[in-house]
Amino acid sequence: MTRQALAVLNEIFGYDSFRDQQQEIVEQILSGQHALVLMPTGGGKSICYQIPSLVLPGTGLVVSPLIALMQDQVSALRQLGVKAACLNSSLPMEEIIEVERALVRGELDLVYLAPERLLQEETLNLLDRCELSLLAIDEAHCISRWGHDFRPEYLQLDTLRDRWPDLPVLACTATADQRTRKEILSKLRLETGQIFISGFDRPNIKYRVTGKTNEKNQLLDFINTHHFGEAGIVYCLSRKRTEKIAAFLNENGLPALPYHAGLSGTLRQHNQARFLNEDGLIVVATIAFGMGIDKPDVRFVAHLDLPKSIEAYYQETGRAGRDGLPSNAWMVYGMQDVIMQSRFVDMSDGDEVFKRSERQKLDTMLGYCETVSCRRQLLLNYFGEDLSEPCGNCDTCLEPVPIFDGTEAAQKLLSCVVRTGQRFGALYIIDVLRGSESERIDKFGHRELSTYGIGSEFDNWQWRSIIRQLVTKRFLAVDLEGYGGLRLTPEARGILNGETEVLLRQEEAASLARPKPKPKKKKATAALLEVGTEAEIAANQGLFEELRDLRKAIAEEQSVPPYVIFHDKALAAMALHRPGSENEFLMISGVGQSKLQKYGERFLARIRENS
Ligand code: ADP
Ligand code: ZN
Repeated sequence: MTRQALAVLNEIFGYDSFRDQQQEIVEQILSGQHALVLMPTGGGKSICYQIPSLVLPGTGLVVSPLIALMQDQVSALRQLGVKAACLNSSLPMEEIIEVERALVRGELDLVYLAPERLLQEETLNLLDRCELSLLAIDEAHCISRWGHDFRPEYLQLDTLRDRWPDLPVLACTATADQRTRKEILSKLRLETGQIFISGFDRPNIKYRVTGKTNEKNQLLDFINTHHFGEAGIVYCLSRKRTEKIAAFLNENGLPALPYHAGLSGTLRQHNQARFLNEDGLIVVATIAFGMGIDKPDVRFVAHLDLPKSIEAYYQETGRAGRDGLPSNAWMVYGMQDVIMQSRFVDMSDGDEVFKRSERQKLDTMLGYCETVSCRRQLLLNYFGEDLSEPCGNCDTCLEPVPIFDGTEAAQKLLSCVVRTGQRFGALYIIDVLRGSESERIDKFGHRELSTYGIGSEFDNWQWRSIIRQLVTKRFLAVDLEGYGGLRLTPEARGILNGETEVLLRQEEAASLARPKPKPKKKKATAALLEVGTEAEIAANQGLFEELRDLRKAIAEEQSVPPYVIFHDKALAAMALHRPGSENEFLMISGVGQSKLQKYGERFLARIRENS
């Protein structure tokens, strides 16, 4: 059966070999046993149940929480010539009847269902009349009450175990800590199965975090420099901000759409569909946007507001680069974010235990922002994984941050806070320290203070970083009720009387750190960079663009997203290797029999015309 599985991988999916643990997982299911699969986003989970469904007699059932996800998967499978369908409430009655008929006749290899649909007595009775090959439970962490995506219907999936005791079950997820893993196994009664863990690392994502000065211009700079013409997601906390930022990007020549829970359902769907179907669109969203975004070529995820925990941050940034190509996770944050997130925690309904746990999560998130060591090591460590060497693909690895003895700076700052009465916010304190001529300072008579003008060795940007760090290290507290006034914590005394020393990140002065504006350039070369050298890219970029245009035209004819036709990686390989015959075309990774028949001729012709 392993040989059969490999043949399906080659001929239908067009891939040479299994990745990591895929083969073991497939074999586990083929031998009738259960599996819990933990793989990072983009790791290749779906093949683990799709291939057994094709090899085994009968139909594979796939439980998936979101309609958009199912539809995407089904259109991708149909492109491969696989007989797949979904059953959900968005389909017209006639179509449902047709799918049900095909099911009973045993004509389908895979059926995708939402849990509530699957658990209806009617559906179950229908399935009792069918031959089933396996039950796959996608996003299995939804079964956990503790998780952030809890779905009560998922809890009832255990009744299926009594109904079909011999059916192999494959539960898969990209996010599950120890507790959630245990919960999945016990709730679904899969203890006899095997757990396959592929690790959490997303090596193709580059992590960058920087202080916030002018967020709009920082964002614009970032996109224009690294991602002009590419698809990305920008996360903000409020609905109003998503609209403002989207408008700002549009004004500056970057096509962007807002997405938040306040938009009508139709508009949300419309914006999401455009994001999936068009190349190079940016969505500016609240966290309402995300789950169900299977788009493989999201090249960047930007955060303009601080996420509330590492889990949330990792899940959101994980939406970049599902196709394995180089991608960026970029964030700016400032004092205001710390205040806002702390307020959310304070105002939440939870009891003190809950609030304490939320505060700890926020502190860990802040620690991540201010770290001077490898960000990936810190992230993976948070999920209980060890990365022995620094990753070499995050900002602190690429541009190591110098540390300095910040005791004297902290003393100046803390005494300035004391002398001004422990009620002013960061900006005002910095003004006093740097000896600003502002009228406000005279109004309060603070020009007379001994701390007035004693901090001119650091610029505004550097002082902000020092304040953030002192807050994260709990020497300073922020007044959450009022206007974010700073006050000292009991620990601050140690610094003032010279008993405590503090080491701080040393930020470059803003004038040095500010990126030089670079010319905008259509990028879209991430895929090419992966497969070729600089010179090869230069020689083949034109053909690559041509092939993208052809793909877009075909996708429009069929009303499917372009990546369902071919991934960027496959197009890059075509541009580089320039296949001249059907056999050569089949050698491209991602081209199987069905895609050869459907598109071989048109792509081969386009390659010929351009050679
Ligand atoms: P996940 O569901 O884990 O996020 P997918 O199953 O969508 O990931 O797979 C991610 C990408 O990797 C898809 O484009 C898929 O076709 C590709 N892929 C999966 N397995 C292989 C393989 N063995 N060889 C090459 N590409 C693969
Ligand atoms: Zn690193």
